[in-house]
Formats: sequence, C-alpha cells, structure tokens
Amino acid sequence: MSETFTALVVEKTDTGQAVRIRDFSDSELMDGDVTVAVEHSTINYKDGLALTGKAPIIRNFPLIPGIDFAGTVLSSASDAFRPGDKVVLNGWGVGETHHGGYAARARVPGKWLVPLPERFTTAQAMAIGTAGYTAMLCVMALEEEGVVPDSGEILVTGAAGGVGSVAIMLLAKLGYRVVAATGRPEEEAYLRNLGASAILPREELNGDPRPLGKTRWAGAVDVVGSRVLANVISQIQYGGTVAACGLAQGMDLPASVAPFILRNVALRGVDSVHCPKPRREKAWERLARDLDVEKLAAVTSHARLDDLPRLAEEILAGKVRGRVVVDIAA
Ligand code: NDP
Repeated sequence: MSETFTALVVEKTDTGQAVRIRDFSDSELMDGDVTVAVEHSTINYKDGLALTGKAPIIRNFPLIPGIDFAGTVLSSASDAFRPGDKVVLNGWGVGETHHGGYAARARVPGKWLVPLPERFTTAQAMAIGTAGYTAMLCVMALEEEGVVPDSGEILVTGAAGGVGSVAIMLLAKLGYRVVAATGRPEEEAYLRNLGASAILPREELNGDPRPLGKTRWAGAVDVVGSRVLANVISQIQYGGTVAACGLAQGMDLPASVAPFILRNVALRGVDSVHCPKPRREKAWERLARDLDVEKLAAVTSHARLDDLPRLAEEILAGKVRGRVVVDIAA
C-alpha cells in the first residue's frame, strides 16, 4: 500500500481555487527518479501568487505548491544521488506544473537537484531559498559585467524583501557600498544592520522616468520593475549594470534607450527557474562562501504549513520582511 504524508494542496473549485492541508499518497506524486524527504520550504513572492491565485502560476490542479525545498534523499534511481544525501531544489516548474515543496515528500528528476553545500543545514538553505539564490545570481551578473567595489555605489530596490535583503548582505560582505531603496522607512535599522550604508525612499524612484537622469549608481539589483526600474536605469553611471529579476511593481518598463546607447549601460536579465545546472551550482557555492549565516539567521522567521495562506497575502502586500522558513514537519 502506498505511504501517505502531509501536504498543502491547491485544488480547483467552481469559484477559483482552494487551499487544503491533507494526507497525500506517495502514488499521487509525479514522475521523477529521486524521492526526497522534504524538511524545509519557504515562501517566495511567486508562491504568494500561486497560493492566492492572483496570477496563473499553477497550471495543473490539484497541485502541491512551493517553488523550492531542501531535504534528504529517501530513494534514488539517479547515479548522482544516494539515500541520505542532502539536496536543495529551486524552480524548474516545481510548484507550478510539478508537485512542490509544501509537503513532507517530493519526487523530481535528479537533474533538477543541487547537492546542498556542507556549510548549510536544510533550514538555512530555505532561509536563503529561491530569493537568496536569485540575489546571488544578480551579484554574479554585476561581477561579470565588471562592476567592482571601487566602481561606486550599488542600489538595491525592494530592499526589505527577500531578494533585496540577501542582495544587501552579499554585496556588503563583498565590500560594495550599498544603498537600500525601500517603501518602508521604518526598516532603516534592519537594512543598515544587513550592511546598507544609506537608505533611499522608494518615492524618489517613482516619478516620471526621464531618458537620462543624474548618474548615481555603478550598479543596481532591481526586484521591482516598471517605473522604478526605468528610473534606476536612467541613473546608472557610464558603463554600469542593472541586474533585473523582479516585477513587484509591474511587468512594464517605461524606459528610454538613451542610457544604453549614450552611457554604455547594461541591463542583465536574471532568471532563476531555468538557470542551467552548472550556474546554479556555482551560485550555491558562492552563497556558501559569501553569505554571513549569522546575519541570515537574524532576517529569518519560521512558519508552518497552516501559516501559508496568511503569509501569501502578506508577501503580495509587501509586508513580509526578510525570509520565512517553512518547517514542514512542524
Ligand atoms: P518580497 O515580497 O519579499 O520583496 C519584494 C519587495 O519589493 C517588497 O518587500 C517591497 O520592498 C518591494 N515592493 C513591493 N511592492 C512594491 C511596489 N508596488 N512598488 C515598489 N516596490 C514594491 O519578494 P521577493 O524578494 O521574494 O521577490 C521580489 C521579486 O523578485 C518578485 O517580483 C519576484 O517575483 C521576483 N523574483 C524573480 C526571480 C527570478 O527568477 N527572476 C526569482 C525570485 C524572485 P520594500 O518594502 O523594501 O520597498
């Protein structure tokens, strides 16, 4: 008889969708050559969209959401993993088309899994989560475009959120001078504690974008998109780079080409979901080297599966600070 375990499941209803925590059977899991005992997951902005149904993230119903998880391999037909190995998964459509991390068990193709760096516990891996791994991909993009600490100040938008918080921690530890743009001035002490050297109120990036603004930044990590990103691009100094990964304000980009053709500014898109495996392994190795785990603990709170519907509303309202680890067994 197939074993059962606890899962949070999103089901389709006549009026939309409903979230239920229920027993789930091993035989209901989808195809994959590795089965993982999930210990921790997290909530990312995309999980908020999936859980509330505010964007069509989930494309097969019923589905276990959760775009990332960390745990221990239970069984494996893949040469790359053995029972007992600690692993982490980010993206690949997990929590969208394939059952995800909000359950005590997951089954996935082994090629989607990354060995967990020894420095991290599975809880720390999910304190980092897709948000932190994406922040690392953004930092790598800036470095690859030649942005170094001596180049000048780096702006991080959506600073008090998940990607923003980890980006500040990483950049500050690498020696960059970081300016944190936030709509939450009350988080100034939090942001300075992460390593921000100055705070920029979000309103200052929300005006009508000009083709070319006064140059202020050697580089930027933007999680917001839309008008904010357009303003950021207009303020990048000659030869600087913006790593753009998010859409918290919107999908549009009311910008001019002027910064690209007159200031040699680079706009680097950052995708974590289909990022090739060697690059994601490199990002996790870099996190193991460059992230201050004590600071990470200070920005992390813990939750359970039954907290997720409330947290989903909060993350979409921009009210979640830092990172939230979901303890699956709790
Ligand atoms: P969070 O909700 O934790 O952080 C987003 C932050 O953006 C908020 O905390 C807030 O920061 C700011 N913000 C929210 N709404 C607005 C708004 N309307 N206008 C301006 N700023 C706003 O989310 P995450 O950090 O998990 O994700 C951030 C973005 O990055 C999301 O859009 C997400 O989809 C995207 N993302 C993309 C990935 C990829 O692969 N490309 C991977 C991971 C995330 P503050 O209060 O400080 O202003």
